[in-house]
Amino acid sequence: MALDPKRTVTELKELRELTGDEDGAQRVAWTETWEQAREWLREKLVETGAKEAIDAAGNQWFTLRGRAKRAVLVGGHIDSVPNGGWLDGALNVVAGMEVLRRIASEGTPPVTVRLVNWADEEGARFGRSLFGSSASGGSMRDQDELRQLVDRDGVALPDALAAHGVDLDRAIQAQRELQTAAAYLELHIEQGPVLESLDLPLGVVLGTFGVERHRITWHGQAAHAGSTPMDKRRDALAGAAKLALEIRDIARRTGGAAVCTSGNVVCRPGIVTSVVETAEQLLDQRELNVQRLAMMLTEAKAASERFAAEERIDVAWERIWSIEPILFDETLLGFCEEAILEVAGTAHRLPSGPLHDAAEVSRAGVPTVMMFVQSLRGLSHTKLEDTREEHLQLAVSALDGLVARTIDWVAGGGGRDTSEKTRRGT
Ligand SMILES: [Zn+2]
Repeated sequence: MALDPKRTVTELKELRELTGDEDGAQRVAWTETWEQAREWLREKLVETGAKEAIDAAGNQWFTLRGRAKRAVLVGGHIDSVPNGGWLDGALNVVAGMEVLRRIASEGTPPVTVRLVNWADEEGARFGRSLFGSSASGGSMRDQDELRQLVDRDGVALPDALAAHGVDLDRAIQAQRELQTAAAYLELHIEQGPVLESLDLPLGVVLGTFGVERHRITWHGQAAHAGSTPMDKRRDALAGAAKLALEIRDIARRTGGAAVCTSGNVVCRPGIVTSVVETAEQLLDQRELNVQRLAMMLTEAKAASERFAAEERIDVAWERIWSIEPILFDETLLGFCEEAILEVAGTAHRLPSGPLHDAAEVSRAGVPTVMMFVQSLRGLSHTKLEDTREEHLQLAVSALDGLVARTIDWVAGGGGRDTSEKTRRGT
């Protein structure tokens, strides 16, 4: 059976009909609609002979046994946010299905090929993203916090999982699924405006941004707005305001795709007749290069000290969350570029701002790469999310080329060494 990229578009629309409504996709993980989407996938893949299994974290695996046990993984997530788009996550699951059909029709592949539908990538219901892939990748260490999570209706996460056959305490047993993984591939919509602005359908993803998130508390003195002369004020908001502007220069000076965002400032007392006493500011900084990310943080801190001195106020920093940048595999980046050049003529390399399941798999030591397809208007997590059909078709062809190259590589001994001895050592 030859690859039929048009069928992928048709099937994505079919999935949209089945699991969406007038407000968009409703495939929120651990719900009936999500289960329905998994059942749809199961039925679709029967004809390929791929064996289905749900692992301890609720990830859905379809395995096409090859002559060797070592496996090339293709992964996506069929779950969506409420009122989500038709492509986020689902694209790779449905495109991967088409690639699996092509491979199955050619007889037993030289290595095993597995399609994985990660459970709860979005974290839409309980606020914890990358559930299934972090369990499988082995980075899930927050079970105690997870146990406390409840959704809007008061349902606890462990109960919601149990309703779908997943025991939170056993979820990390999903790690064994990666024991035979030699390489991991993920196609995703860009969810940003870069490829569209370059008028390119497809891009090679270099890795996912490292992130530094901080809460900055400025402390001045509340004082009457009428009786306090301008030069006598200790205005906490002035520090926050200066920093909010300064971080734009910091990102600009850092260059590349670096971004800094001051997402919120809460002022107290927060009334029209008082100088601001405390201003609590949120800062998010992202960069692909670990040194440049650290430099952006250092510069922001130094600037804040300067502004505090200028305004005669105090400043304190508190880290909320951080993650190191994740760089994808050099060889796979090359294959991804070749596969894109073959179907589109030009390949652009770009980092990913959002995190993806691929980051968890990569952190687990599996050589990984992602491919982006252009998003129209850069929109995602809304029913307005869209990609041109011809671009979706090109993406399926490019994914197929990437998978084929990776299978050859792994069959020839490339990819992660999955032998028992090596694994025990790590
Ligand atoms: Zn996604």
